[in-house]
Formats: sequence, structure tokens, C-alpha cells
Amino acid sequence: MSKIALFPGSFDPITKGHVDIVVKGLGIFDTIIIAIGSNAKKTSLFTLEQRITWIKQIFTNQPRVQVTHYTGLTIDFAKHNNAGFILRGLRSPGDFEYEQQIAYANKELVDEIETVFLLSSASYSNISSTIVRDIIINKGNYTKFVPEGIVF
Ligand code: ADP
Repeated sequence: MSKIALFPGSFDPITKGHVDIVVKGLGIFDTIIIAIGSNAKKTSLFTLEQRITWIKQIFTNQPRVQVTHYTGLTIDFAKHNNAGFILRGLRSPGDFEYEQQIAYANKELVDEIETVFLLSSASYSNISSTIVRDIIINKGNYTKFVPEGIVF
């Protein structure tokens, strides 16, 4: 059976850290669906359309990566897309504490979907969209942190 993983997030904007997790994930899963969720607690800097365009641009030559968006519960969207896995990246113990709670809640909701955590490569473990947004807003040099070809 084809292994489909949903990689949910805000991707505001996508960073080298996100791409690293997708590339690692492609070694494990047949298909990765990158899904931009509308998070009630987060207001985004970039529009949904813009975020989707950048992600599609990065993975234009990778047919095993799909890009989409959703509202509502991530676990419901994963089930709706026949994903057997939710993929999340871990940069730190802080990430793990937060992610573990969500993963347990999701497991209670839909037992057959497993959350899989992949460790960020050490060189990307200090990159977050929050920091990248701050650099962009303050007109700093963001190019080290985002995939090549992405210009804000
Ligand atoms: P969310 O709002 O859901 O946290 P993000 O876009 O910030 O959305 O992150 C999406 C996923 O990518 C999360 O699992 C997050 O831990 C992971 N991630 C973000 N930055 C990195 C990074 N530098 N290295 C590895 N994983 C990362």
C-alpha cells in the first residue's frame, strides 16, 4: 500500500528547515502532502496563495510532493486524504513537548494515523519561520534561511 504522509504547517514562509524534513521524508514515504493549515491563533505575514506558490516552485520537479491547504482539524484532513501518517519536524526538546501533546490528542481522535517525527539536521535546527519573518520585515538578509530562488 502506498505510504502517504501529511506534512501540516503554516509555512509562513517555507524555510530550508521545512525542505530538509520533506527531503528526509521522501526517503520514507511514497507521497508527501504539504498542507497549509489556517490556524486560528496565528495571523500570517504572507497570503495563502503566495505560500502555496513558493512551495510549488521549490518542488516543481518532485511529483511525489503535493501542495494544498485546509481548514479544520489536521487529523480530519489527513484521514480525508488517506494519509496514514502525519509528518512533523523536531528542532528541540521544546518542539517535542508541544508536538507530543498534539500527537497524543490526534491518536485519540483517529487511532490508525501515526505521527512521525523527524529530527531537523543540526545546521537547520535554529531556523524558524518566525525568525525569517522578522529578518524580512526588518530588511535583513534572509537568503541563508530560505530555499534558493525564493525572493520576498
Ligand atoms: P506550525 O504553525 O504548525 O508549527 P510551521 O510552518 O512553523 O507550522 O512548522 C511546520 C512543521 O515544520 C513543524 O513540524 C515544525 O516543527 C517543522 N519545522 C519548522 N522549522 C523547522 C526546522 N528548521 N527544522 C525542522 N523542522 C522544522
